[in-house]
Amino acid sequence: MSTSDQPSGDLTHVALFPSAGMGHLVPFLRLAAALLRHHCKLTLITSHPAVSSAESQLISRFLSAFPQITELKFHIVPLDPLVANSDDPFFLQFEAIRRSVHLITSPLSALCPPLSALVCDVSLISSALVLSATLKIPNYVLFTSSAIMFSLFAYYPFVKMSDPSGDLIHIPAIGSIPKTSLPPPLLVDNSIFKKIFTQDGRRIKELNGVLINAMDAMEGDTLNALNSGKVVDGLPPVVPIGPLLPCEFENPEGKSPIKWLEKLPPRSVVFASFGSRTAASREQIKEIGIGLASSGYKFLWIVKDKVVDKEDREGVEGVVGEELMEKLKEKGMVLKEWVNQEEILGHRAVGGFVSHCGWNSVIEAALKGVPVLAWPQNGDQMINAGLVAEKGVGMWVEKWGWGHKCVVKGEELGGRIKELMESDGLRARAAEVKEEAAKAVAVGGSCDRAFEWLIGRWSKGI
Ligand code: UDP
Ligand code: UDP
Repeated sequence: MSTSDQPSGDLTHVALFPSAGMGHLVPFLRLAAALLRHHCKLTLITSHPAVSSAESQLISRFLSAFPQITELKFHIVPLDPLVANSDDPFFLQFEAIRRSVHLITSPLSALCPPLSALVCDVSLISSALVLSATLKIPNYVLFTSSAIMFSLFAYYPFVKMSDPSGDLIHIPAIGSIPKTSLPPPLLVDNSIFKKIFTQDGRRIKELNGVLINAMDAMEGDTLNALNSGKVVDGLPPVVPIGPLLPCEFENPEGKSPIKWLEKLPPRSVVFASFGSRTAASREQIKEIGIGLASSGYKFLWIVKDKVVDKEDREGVEGVVGEELMEKLKEKGMVLKEWVNQEEILGHRAVGGFVSHCGWNSVIEAALKGVPVLAWPQNGDQMINAGLVAEKGVGMWVEKWGWGHKCVVKGEELGGRIKELMESDGLRARAAEVKEEAAKAVAVGGSCDRAFEWLIGRWSKGI
């Protein structure tokens, strides 16, 4: 490429401002890697102390891989949990960061070359708008969930929840979402989550744009509806930049299950993992073990006992129980540690994914063409599970309800895993979406075009 053909990214300095939790950090760092490929200069804003060790370790691996990135570290003002009306540590961190944003105005304004744009987490909108107005730069959000979830976020301030007309929320040009699928924290009065939805949701129009880890193959209609003004009039451009690609720096240290997978036939293993912040009850852990063992398939199961990894100290044998562990060892692999999920999903031996449907997990499964057994646990996951089922890339057993509220019996789980692993229809549909995802991320594909369009705007201060 000659110098004159270089994308305008050369001139563009972007600050990325993630919030708490791996589900938010991972897509921000993947976005960073993509923007570097498009020659942007980047500053990463990191909030200290982080909630989980997984976050600190990932940031450190990321900065070693990309020494050209400036890190802007800031120490958040501690928050009184009573003020935030929550006991969820990630949730508290959202609020603490929101309240500490003023601390970075001055260091950001001193950056050289000056910033062209700010991309912040959805949970930071109201604070980040003050920041970008002071710095006189455009403000974008990276929305870390699905486009359908974004439609709900955009439309929610206009919903009358007391509307007696039924159990559904009708979103114009999108369709209906059952009220039972709404994120549970949204139904808690005075919760930070509800505040973000109702107050910050109204301010989306003040943003210059919304980047979303979504793709046409999964959500083309929703993205079109959002950009046509039919969902909420006057929204800024909603730019699908997905699927964001996993990167080398994400590879954790420690033992990898890949060697074990190597010895197994194609599509013979079910992978069960529930993201970075879902701790199962001991009773449910036992039932999952029974279910996997009775499915008739080999399995790789990642056990999580505590919401925050720093507190997750007990060994896997203790958590699962020695007797059950002995039985499980004959049929599969059980780990209680951070693994490289995308590498596992991309391994030919893996034929199905039992997932909580955190959005990153859904998109990673789509990218690798692995059918999903959706088992939403909390947050946006039921809405994502509905999408998985609707698109035919997985199945969702609605009667299981929210994982954090109901226990699913092992026998029931085992039967559904068998169904997942044996469904030719799901496998074929997942393979089609994988092909579409590969086109989106190919050179000159929709992702490249979206980034070039964005960088063009940023270089003009839009
Ligand atoms: N992840 C991983 N290894 C693990 C657990 C999670 O690599 O052992 C990654 C996973 O691939 C995804 C992210 O962490 O990129 C979790 O985000 P997601 O939205 O799926 O769920 P959350 O953790 O926010 O509930
Ligand atoms: N939440 C939770 N556990 C989860 C996921 C979400 O308690 O595994 C709660 C948490 O209070 C969070 C809210 O649900 O603030 C909404 O989660 P979000 O949509 O931000 O999902 P995330 O991408 O953070 O997993």
